[in-house]
Amino acid sequence: MNDIAYLEDRKHIIRISRDLHEIGLLVRTWGNISSRVDDNHFLITPSGIRYEDLTPEMIVLVNIDDLSYEGNIKPSSESKVHAVAYKERPDCNFIVHTHQVFASCAGTLGLKKIFSYFDDEDMTIPVAAYALPGTQKLADNVARCLKKFRDINGIIMANHGTLCLGINSNEAVYEAERMESACNDFLIDVCKMDMTHGVEVGYNSHREGNNIVYDIKDTPERVKLIHKQIYSKRPDVNYIIHNKSEAAMMVSRRANHMRPLLDDFAQLIGTEVKIPSNEDEIYHNIKKTVNVVFAPNDGAYCVGSTEDDAEAVAMVLDKGCIAYIAVMRNGEGHYISKLECIKMNRHYRKSYSKLADINKD
Ligand SMILES: [Zn+2]
Repeated sequence: MNDIAYLEDRKHIIRISRDLHEIGLLVRTWGNISSRVDDNHFLITPSGIRYEDLTPEMIVLVNIDDLSYEGNIKPSSESKVHAVAYKERPDCNFIVHTHQVFASCAGTLGLKKIFSYFDDEDMTIPVAAYALPGTQKLADNVARCLKKFRDINGIIMANHGTLCLGINSNEAVYEAERMESACNDFLIDVCKMDMTHGVEVGYNSHREGNNIVYDIKDTPERVKLIHKQIYSKRPDVNYIIHNKSEAAMMVSRRANHMRPLLDDFAQLIGTEVKIPSNEDEIYHNIKKTVNVVFAPNDGAYCVGSTEDDAEAVAMVLDKGCIAYIAVMRNGEGHYISKLECIKMNRHYRKSYSKLADINKD
């Protein structure tokens, strides 16, 4: 174990990932962190492993020029973005990529820059143009943006998340925190209201054999009917989380359909979600490829084959609803194209089922 190269750097990355996880800027397996260790290499968090489960040997050593890596653990799929950032910014040695809520939502409005403030100082946050995650095009767009704004340490990747750089981890983390606060203030201006985020649980249930178990004993019959309808149309679903967050409630009251404004929405939820105007329509809106079922005026039921999956859907839905409200209030936004949504959704399903197969062994 002590023979492992750059052990202290690896431990440091894990420490920082846990700090960011604790303050809510990194969630589940989303986002990634890297640290430059010499002229040609950086260490980066692996793809698809939860921050809580990381150990030093799981951190992957990647070559900046050709992206080759050591060992059999795959580095984050966003390694290309980190590599171009290290090339563009020789002064930076630490990078944090997050899907943090407010900055990600601010990056759906179709703006090239976000103007806000932090600690009474003006703050400009450039937005790199959209491209599908993991692609060279995304890395090129990020490189172009960093080239244009040489003295800025934090940028938004449109419809996706953020990239924060620093001489060291302190600087990069500070940038991510500063950006989230500035984007929260920016969205308050756009939405003319403060928006809380998270999951506000209503009536949950799960399946045990042929029975449906409700978390709340006196779940109303009309709600039970919705759960029954979901389970009958979706044999793959074992958990339902009823999300009544402020944003989900607002969308369930005011919207009639949602298209993805963020990559993770397209991946985990689906390429289009219809919002029924009355409870009779709910049954028809339960689709195999959509992991959210809205109830009129009553938030949304977020479904998954495991509790963990349903929770992920609930969190991504809440963020997607905040983005939706911001775009509505702003009057315009940049939606991800239907084709790109379908590509991401398929890719996610495929890689996810592969992962699930491995976990079964
Ligand atoms: Zn990402």
